[in-house]
Amino acid sequence: MTKKIVIILLALFILIKAPIFAAPSKNSIEVFIDDKKVISDVMPFIYKDTTMVPLRVISENLGAKVNYESVSKKITLSFKNNTIILKVNDLYAYVGGKKTKLQIPPMIISNRVFVPLRFIAENFEAKVIWDGQNRIVRIYKKNNEIKNIYWDENEGVLNIEAENPPEYSIQEKENSIILDLTAKVKENQNFYVYNGKFLKDAQISFTDAGIRLILEKKEGFLNEYFEKDGVLKLKFFTVIDGLEYAKSTESSKFTVKVPANIEFKYFTLGSVNSNDYRLVVDLYNSRPAFHIPRIDGDNFVTSVRSSQFSINPDITRIVFDMKGDFNFLVKKEEEGLVVEFRNNAKLLDVSIENKDGKTQVIFGLDKTTAYSINEDVLRNTLVIEMDKTDLIYRGKTQDFTFFNGMKGNVIFEEDVNNNKLKARIYKGDYGLQHNILTLDNKIIIEFSSLSLFGKTIVIDPGHGGNDPGAVYQGVYEKDINLDIALRLKKVLEDNGAKVLMTRESDIYVNLYARAGMANEINADLFVSIHCNSSLNPLTSGIQTLYFPTMEKKRFAEVIQKSLVEALGLKDLGIVERTALVVIRETNMPSCIIEVAFMSNPNDLSLLMDPNFRQKAAEGIFKGILKFLVY
Ligand SMILES: [Zn+2]
Repeated sequence: MTKKIVIILLALFILIKAPIFAAPSKNSIEVFIDDKKVISDVMPFIYKDTTMVPLRVISENLGAKVNYESVSKKITLSFKNNTIILKVNDLYAYVGGKKTKLQIPPMIISNRVFVPLRFIAENFEAKVIWDGQNRIVRIYKKNNEIKNIYWDENEGVLNIEAENPPEYSIQEKENSIILDLTAKVKENQNFYVYNGKFLKDAQISFTDAGIRLILEKKEGFLNEYFEKDGVLKLKFFTVIDGLEYAKSTESSKFTVKVPANIEFKYFTLGSVNSNDYRLVVDLYNSRPAFHIPRIDGDNFVTSVRSSQFSINPDITRIVFDMKGDFNFLVKKEEEGLVVEFRNNAKLLDVSIENKDGKTQVIFGLDKTTAYSINEDVLRNTLVIEMDKTDLIYRGKTQDFTFFNGMKGNVIFEEDVNNNKLKARIYKGDYGLQHNILTLDNKIIIEFSSLSLFGKTIVIDPGHGGNDPGAVYQGVYEKDINLDIALRLKKVLEDNGAKVLMTRESDIYVNLYARAGMANEINADLFVSIHCNSSLNPLTSGIQTLYFPTMEKKRFAEVIQKSLVEALGLKDLGIVERTALVVIRETNMPSCIIEVAFMSNPNDLSLLMDPNFRQKAAEGIFKGILKFLVY
């Protein structure tokens, strides 16, 4: 039964040779090229699973060059460097000169030439997708290739560069942008689509048409897109939507309402003398959309102006014409960028406080002001420059005594420039360190002793050069020893000690020479750093070796205790050793520290961790401090 019908149908086709079609029918289909519907006066149709389209569709929509010779019925299609030659009712075509068999040949219906779409499209490197449910043929030319996707962070622009300007579609929803690009991407090519200044997140994925970017914008940013020099540009910016103004006798405050987190820069131009002194504030990646408030009778500012200073990048410029060289500050606050003009600061008093082994030199101002502190090493002084501060103190001197009984003074310097009050504190050559504290409107310089000032310590990193010490899992003891030693050197020097290393690189130094170095300079301490090893891999912990004198034993005890506290490894105690050269031959307190066991896998992995080695150095330092100072 079924067979019979098939046979009859086949016979029918052979007789007719071509399909009977009438639009619209269930045979009708739609063709989309790069998501654009193909409009044609005659309908494409499907014949034996092959989509046939009028020849014109190929020339007008696929971008191929078409030549049709009506006498020979020869069709020549060319696209880029590829040529396809077909002939009406001929099952053979030539693709780039190569003979190829077709499923269905080109045919003429109602005086129109129809050609097989997929065959042609695919030979021109396009992608053909058949959506059977909706009876749609989708063709993606994909002949365009993405060359690069990159950010110009300064301009706030994501650039998409392709061979030809890519076709794209954009969907936007709240803070997300979905950008579909019709273009192919080379395999294994990476693009950096994310930018932390403008985006919360960025994803890139492949689609039938090419690629899709999904970008999540950060709060307060808007975007636009345009093509320039063949590059698709996605630009991000924010819109400044307000400038608020508040004034008092003491200050004038302008708050620039910026919805997004952007960068800004400020500087002054002109001079008070030539009456054109002004503060310029540039806000990057922004556009102005605000009114300038009325500021009649302001104490500090004669006028405020704003403009779109540049568009690539987008810069909003706000200019404040100032009445004089006033104290101003520009800072980011929650409500926006605050620009505040104030009367100059006044230094009310300078006071000295000595307590707990510290001296504080306190500059009491009536308001906060910017300041800088520099050390003048040659003159043993600290120089403090207070910005926009009244100069009534200049030329004055104040003497004082440090906590350690030494003399110091503060001199306010005579030479004055730029509205700055300059104070010079003499701190002598007393090994004092200083900290800067600010409290309310005070600038406080706190002096204290460098705890190890005047002390000389010799650090001896064990082994070196041809002698690697213990070796486990490719890790050399000599390298671990040296690393801990260098870290210890830094902490000691930061605290005022003078440090001599028996070696600072991977060289071998004779053991007597190591001890001799310390004896020669009459060092206060000698510390040799090693790592332990044992035949038993389970053995773990910290050990300190000493030569039996009262002082060396006490030093070893203090170091051992401090290191155990710092590292939390097992306390294997201190061990008396009489045959070890470096601890026997040194005249000062000395010890050999065995930080941990290289033969124990857990200890070894700790030794390989820089954080652990730093902790070890600090543990040894604390022991030294305890032994020498407390
Ligand atoms: Zn060793």
